[in-house]
Amino acid sequence: MRAIGYLLLSSALVLAACGRKETPPPKVTAQVLLNPATDGWRSHGGDYSETRHSTLTNINTDNIGELGLAWSYDLESSRGIEATPIIHNGVMYVTATWNVVHALDAVTGAPLWTFRPEIDKVQAGNACCDIVNRGVAIWGNSIFTATIDGRLISLDAKTGDVNWDVLTIDKSGPYTITGAPRVIDGKVIIGNGGAELGVRGYVSAFDADTGKQIWRFYTVPGNPADGFENDAMEMASETWTGEYWAAGGGGTAWDAMAYDPDLDLLYVGVGNGSPWNQSIRSPEGGDNLFLSSIVAVRPDTGEYVWHYQTTPGETWDYTATQHMILADLEIDGKPRKVIMQAPKNGFFYVIDRQTGAFISANNFVPVNWATHIDQETGRPVENPAARYYDKEPHFQLPGPLGAHNWHPMSFNPQTGLVYIPAQEAPWVYGNVKDYKQNAAGWNTGTDFSFAMLPDDKATFKALKSMLKGRLLAWDPVKQEQAWSFEHNGPWNGGLLSTAGGLVFQGTADAHFAAYDAKTGERKWREFTQTGIVAAPVTYAIDGEQYIAVAAGYGGSYVLGFGGVMPSGSAFNTGRVLVFKTGGTAKLPALDVDMASADFEMPKRLDVSADVIAAGKQAYANSCAACHGDQAFASGLTPNLRASAVTKDAELWREVTIEGLLAENGMPNFEGTLDADTVEAVRAYVIAEANSGRDKAFYDSVSLGGEP
Ligand code: CA
Repeated sequence: MRAIGYLLLSSALVLAACGRKETPPPKVTAQVLLNPATDGWRSHGGDYSETRHSTLTNINTDNIGELGLAWSYDLESSRGIEATPIIHNGVMYVTATWNVVHALDAVTGAPLWTFRPEIDKVQAGNACCDIVNRGVAIWGNSIFTATIDGRLISLDAKTGDVNWDVLTIDKSGPYTITGAPRVIDGKVIIGNGGAELGVRGYVSAFDADTGKQIWRFYTVPGNPADGFENDAMEMASETWTGEYWAAGGGGTAWDAMAYDPDLDLLYVGVGNGSPWNQSIRSPEGGDNLFLSSIVAVRPDTGEYVWHYQTTPGETWDYTATQHMILADLEIDGKPRKVIMQAPKNGFFYVIDRQTGAFISANNFVPVNWATHIDQETGRPVENPAARYYDKEPHFQLPGPLGAHNWHPMSFNPQTGLVYIPAQEAPWVYGNVKDYKQNAAGWNTGTDFSFAMLPDDKATFKALKSMLKGRLLAWDPVKQEQAWSFEHNGPWNGGLLSTAGGLVFQGTADAHFAAYDAKTGERKWREFTQTGIVAAPVTYAIDGEQYIAVAAGYGGSYVLGFGGVMPSGSAFNTGRVLVFKTGGTAKLPALDVDMASADFEMPKRLDVSADVIAAGKQAYANSCAACHGDQAFASGLTPNLRASAVTKDAELWREVTIEGLLAENGMPNFEGTLDADTVEAVRAYVIAEANSGRDKAFYDSVSLGGEP
């Protein structure tokens, strides 16, 4: 009987999809976005409920074995690709590294136009988690893309010519944008990121025709002396203490949004605190609204309506920016309009989307920061040891990579299951001594050196065996797992489910696969050469169904932990891969010659162990997030262990604290690190290069996997 609720919800969509044989008009209107036709994929989550579920059945559990590559397109990228393609009027729009937008024929892959925004790469040095982008939006005859340097740009959908280009950020702050805009009734809505470095988060709406800003909703309060923007900010300020505004407060809305047209509510997922460490950010505690919350606002005005906070007093980078899905479920015999989220903190939440009232929550992976969510109050019951700032460092599940990160989920109304790209990635949270706000780099108020990978092989292997990734099917009514499929480590791709009874997902170990939506049985998979983090989409043109995914491994996990990536991901060619039944296209032959030219790093510098240790400490907190733990790079950023810059003390100083490569996106750490410290970091990197922990070492502690 539980299924009735889902059927009621989906019936309108099913009828719309079956009844619409004709192609919707080229001009995208409210009606086009409200009634998603199956010949395209016109909004980020496939529909305003962000279900990422398609009613298409041409490709199904019976014929999935015949799926083959129809075409591929090289995105000219060797870094992370996180984009959801948008498909409309036979054209696919997909974004790649440095915000390049590619328009392709959705049937053949033939390029139609390419837009290369001139990115301010100095600003890109503020990107915590790779120079990635999650895709475009479409409205009218325009495509909208938001850039890593904080701009929102309108392009002519036919030609790629710029209609308008507006700055959405204060460039004096380390803001970046990686998210995809959403469009509601002619308003283009976008947030931003930067809470690792120190900003005040907000989401804004712009007129689709002119680029004029219509409203802005801040997610955390500013300095009361400047006056509050609205009543919600005044209310929120009562949950903060001390000079909370000094470091920005955080709360960036860098990814998830959803929209309910009947309730006229826009839902925004809000990020972590800045700095992470609450004892610095808000010294007397408090919930610190609206950090780590789902906030409902009016899409026309940005007016606050309700909020639900998943992690009160956030202090672990437990964002609630993760994917949110709207559904109508039957719970305890009653139909409920719900919003569902699996945020970083490891609990799956079902919330009443009319009121923000808590309905239920349960952990979907092992967690040790809280025992459970109190069913009366909807608040977590914390493990006291988790608040590390006045205690010992705490080994914790989940860590800042989250039990689920930005990688999209999907919801199949037929199975009633939410599919989650879940992971287990522990972390050691430790207090930073003598905190000061850095001008460059991260400001978390935690000491990353507690969480560095161990040096010896046995401990390293033991830690690596704790890193897990799985495709998890979750029953949101029973709040329990239906099935799970274990992957070769964390940080796998986003999801698509279809009425063909399938769930599609790419993986870190460079495969794209289809699973039975009811049982989790893997029905099909293909080697993709390159690891996948983005989510697939599907569309049907002239009776042929296509499954498309953008490959390109990257993001925070890859930047920070090259040494523990599954083998097989080192080759990183950004590509759109499009599959169809009977497809016979082949990827270009895999170029496996990854060996670098003869390179000799000097032996360990003649410095004391204390200098190396100081170098390691500074490396952990200023360098590792981009150049990799143990200076073992993923290949996304320069490998410092084999860099001419590392060999040359003067060049090293110019790059690190004189801004020599700022135009390439390398931050200038002048004022944050002094000359002695960067030389100690150099000594540490050279020591790592001579540690014997080489690629063979990391491969030898690999958990296996293919190829
Ligand atoms: Ca964060």
